[in-house]
Amino acid sequence: MGKIAINIATGSLQQKEMIVGIDLGTTNSLVAIIHPQDRNPQVIKEVMGNSLVPSVLHFDKSGEPIVGDEALKYLLTDPQQTIFSVKRLIGKSYNDIRERSNFFTYKIFDDQTERLVKIQVGDKFYSPVELSSFILKELKSRAEHILKTPVTKAVITVPAYFNDAQRQATRDAGKLAGLDVLRILNEPTAASLAYGLGLNKNETKTIAVYDLGGGTFDISILRISDGIFEVLSTNGDTYLGGDDFDDAIVKFWKEKIELEKSALKFSENNKQEFRLKAEAAKRHLSLHHEFISNVDGYLIKISKSEFENLGSPLVNKTILCCANALKDAEISITEIDEVIMVGGSTRIPLVKQTVGQFFNKKVNDTLNPDEVVALGAAVQADILAGNNKDFLLLDITPLSLGIETMGGLMDVLIPRNSKIPIRTSRQYTTQKDGQMGIVISVFQGERDLVKDNRKLAEFKLSNIPAMPAGLPKIEISFLIDADGILNVKAKELRSGVTQQIEVKPQYGLTDKEVEKMLLDSIEHATEDIQTRALVEVQTEAKQLLDVTKTFIEKNKTHLLNEEIIASEKIMEQLEILIKSGNKDEIHAAIEQLNEQSRPYAERFMNEAIGKAMKGKQV
Ligand code: AMP
Repeated sequence: MGKIAINIATGSLQQKEMIVGIDLGTTNSLVAIIHPQDRNPQVIKEVMGNSLVPSVLHFDKSGEPIVGDEALKYLLTDPQQTIFSVKRLIGKSYNDIRERSNFFTYKIFDDQTERLVKIQVGDKFYSPVELSSFILKELKSRAEHILKTPVTKAVITVPAYFNDAQRQATRDAGKLAGLDVLRILNEPTAASLAYGLGLNKNETKTIAVYDLGGGTFDISILRISDGIFEVLSTNGDTYLGGDDFDDAIVKFWKEKIELEKSALKFSENNKQEFRLKAEAAKRHLSLHHEFISNVDGYLIKISKSEFENLGSPLVNKTILCCANALKDAEISITEIDEVIMVGGSTRIPLVKQTVGQFFNKKVNDTLNPDEVVALGAAVQADILAGNNKDFLLLDITPLSLGIETMGGLMDVLIPRNSKIPIRTSRQYTTQKDGQMGIVISVFQGERDLVKDNRKLAEFKLSNIPAMPAGLPKIEISFLIDADGILNVKAKELRSGVTQQIEVKPQYGLTDKEVEKMLLDSIEHATEDIQTRALVEVQTEAKQLLDVTKTFIEKNKTHLLNEEIIASEKIMEQLEILIKSGNKDEIHAAIEQLNEQSRPYAERFMNEAIGKAMKGKQV
């Protein structure tokens, strides 16, 4: 791109392509580029100087969506046809958002299933992917209009906590908008890039990126050294952001008014008006001490200290996440060199102050907190365009990934907190003679039994040529690409039979669920180890029973009657013990059966070898 001549001011350009960085936000979205001449990242602005495009859609009677400021107006007048906070819905099922369904003024179709949500507008249904694609399409066409060049390639950012489904959905939305999404980038990584951290190759720094936007909170601990960005840990809450401060103010007013006018009920119509007024109050209180206005003739007011009382439990929640992130990164507060503030809500003085106190450091807020992620996305786009080859970006997996093995055990292929991209593989085999297929079930979580973890996908490797049990070599490979999307491949190495899938889970996990899964795994650690040991010995016993039964069946004529009777007696006993669940007793019975069958197995082997040596078939 360095060679491309483009003059943004005059619009004259002769350039091939432009890779843009897009921050697809809950409240606002924006696009940024690296200026081809001065090489600085900058957001794309309208003539009026506005860079933020509200992530709001309005559908008029024609069914065509209007996006941005124009749509924002209809939040009040036509709330059912006006969609906001789509990012809260992406990759989610109705069950995921049920508790929060009151928050949305438009209709979210409740089909009582775990399927991805649909939004009903008039008689049409839209998926969050489609709705996000309308926003992206609008951003694309604005950028094209201002840059006077086609925009077909983009880097899109997502919160660090987005799971595979949400990342994939964001990528799909980009595709649907006609964008080739070159990278799904974590927002904190983008923010660090925007601050130019790591540009000095000899610099080693540990950074906390505190991102409080409209709908999500993320805290990420990054280490930057030798120009390499590494996310040491992430934490946060996908249901905590500026919207919650607005909600708190609305609730505060509602309670006040209800005290005075007990009959007042918030109508559908004024619900949005209160929400907008609350947001205005919050912004006002970042600079002033009191906010006074009215809704439907009711006087509404709030002071800065009242607002801070409402806000402090929310801010404290974020601080708890910060402490957890430090713990996960195994880092103490004193090791943090910089604290970066991201997201419009970090303009709230109480937020800056509390975060600064916690990290015992003046927070870094020199860049516009609304723009910083988009600017970083542009820096990443520039790296991908080949203009900045010195960088490597590393992220991590929040939960372990593995497959189900015999007895419902979780076999972890990629442990939690692994750096991505990552590729790993392990060999498995069949349990039954002539088994021609195996089902591969992919799970996410920290528990030893898959039933306690979360199933992401299942597929079958079939057409394995018939072979004795244990002979096929089935290699399962997990690949998490740089976007955090998991690819699972199964290959039977002897025959070359292959099957692979891109894991697109049906619905997402909230931070709380991730946290719960981690806490559960700690709480149940001892119990899990015991269960795993028992399942393993039960599996071993079942396999031994199978093998011995088949052996006796096949070789009856070579065995003495008393050998068969003695073996069968132990086998009967072993079958009862498997059910009883006493690990040591099962183990002892396995030993006993092995002891009993060893002499005749050896005899048989010797005979077989002898025959083979005489050139006969075994
Ligand atoms: P983002 O998702 O980063 O665009 O963040 C938008 C959020 O920041 C919204 O909840 C806004 O209400 C909030 N916000 C923007 N400006 C201010 C301000 N001056 N004071 C407090 N909150 C703000």
